[in-house]
Amino acid sequence: MKFNTKTIHGGQSHDPAYGAVMPPIYQTSTYAQSTPGGHKGYEYSRTHNPTRSALEKALASIENGTYGLAFGSGLAAIDAVIKLLKPGDEVISTSDLYGGTYRIFTKIFEGFGIKFHFVGMESAAEVAKHINANTKLIWVETPTNPMMNVIDIKAVAAVAKQHELLLAVDNTFATPYLQRPLDLGADIVMHSATKYIGGHSDLVMGALIVKDEVLADRLYFIQNASGAVCGPQDSFLALRGIKTLHVRMQRHCENGRAIARYLESHPQIEKVYWPGLESHPNHAIAAAQMDDFGGMISFVTKGNDYQKAIQIVERLQIFTLAESLGGVESLAGHPASMTHASIPKEEREKTGVVDSLIRLSVGIEDVADLIADLEQAIGS
Ligand SMILES: *Cc1c(COP(=O)(O)O)cnc(C)c1O
Repeated sequence: MKFNTKTIHGGQSHDPAYGAVMPPIYQTSTYAQSTPGGHKGYEYSRTHNPTRSALEKALASIENGTYGLAFGSGLAAIDAVIKLLKPGDEVISTSDLYGGTYRIFTKIFEGFGIKFHFVGMESAAEVAKHINANTKLIWVETPTNPMMNVIDIKAVAAVAKQHELLLAVDNTFATPYLQRPLDLGADIVMHSATKYIGGHSDLVMGALIVKDEVLADRLYFIQNASGAVCGPQDSFLALRGIKTLHVRMQRHCENGRAIARYLESHPQIEKVYWPGLESHPNHAIAAAQMDDFGGMISFVTKGNDYQKAIQIVERLQIFTLAESLGGVESLAGHPASMTHASIPKEEREKTGVVDSLIRLSVGIEDVADLIADLEQAIGS
């Protein structure tokens, strides 16, 4: 089955009770048993829920995995992955990381005796340098937020295999429409389904997808034992989001390309970070491992003026100034004062998050309107 069919039919079947084409929202915590243990596969909704199961099967299908797990947020999914580890274990992680991931690693799990190394992963050899007898997991995020660095998943997977380490990839920015990490050698794919999977800025959810049965069983155990599951209503919404993932992503990519090229040629713009541009330092890797380049773009204005960047994001009319990404509507953010404000200026500038950096989540509106909006906001 091709991807554009999988989003609609992959892992899906009509509801056995009445033939409902979409799975009903089984808004129930518990299930009647005819005799102790005599149930129809569902006992308690933390453990299993039919709406969540339908979503989990669809997630597994679109990522070319075997098992899917849905959680109450992206961070709850990350939490479950790190709970595979024990005190003394070490993790090698992408350095240019989603802020919340960095926070749970350092502020929660370091307190439980797990050690994290944050490494620029542009070269897999750099990753290998940090491996020792305690290393258990490599955590990759690509493309990264907000600098859009691209990491070679295949190359890092080769290092992971050689040292028998787990490799997890945060595929939130790319989605399986653009990149399928399990096919490239990853063991675990993670999503903030809050973003492109849901796609309509109306839910908070996380997901994990794996191929290996033993690993899946360990994660299902953690999902049930720790209990950070999502509810049936949100499961339904995410499943509905998946059904249009391919058409939304196609438009996100088209609009992204047009806006990246527009910004690149703008006299007021110094630098544009979008993996599809030939000027992007990791363009070759992006072209090899991604089918297209998505709708996330960051840019810096000439002169790197903080006030000018604030003025631009305030003037935008169609782009909404807001955190998050991946919805049908276009959003703009100013990392230095919003998502990355808690990181000291010198630290943040080392990774490229300068004062005038603006991040766009390009939506699926008419691109002419989006470009006109940027034009009036940037000015001359
Ligand atoms: C949003 C996000 C997360 C965290 O997901 P939540 O659903 O907000 O908990 C993790 N990784 C990336 C890349 C994200 O964008």
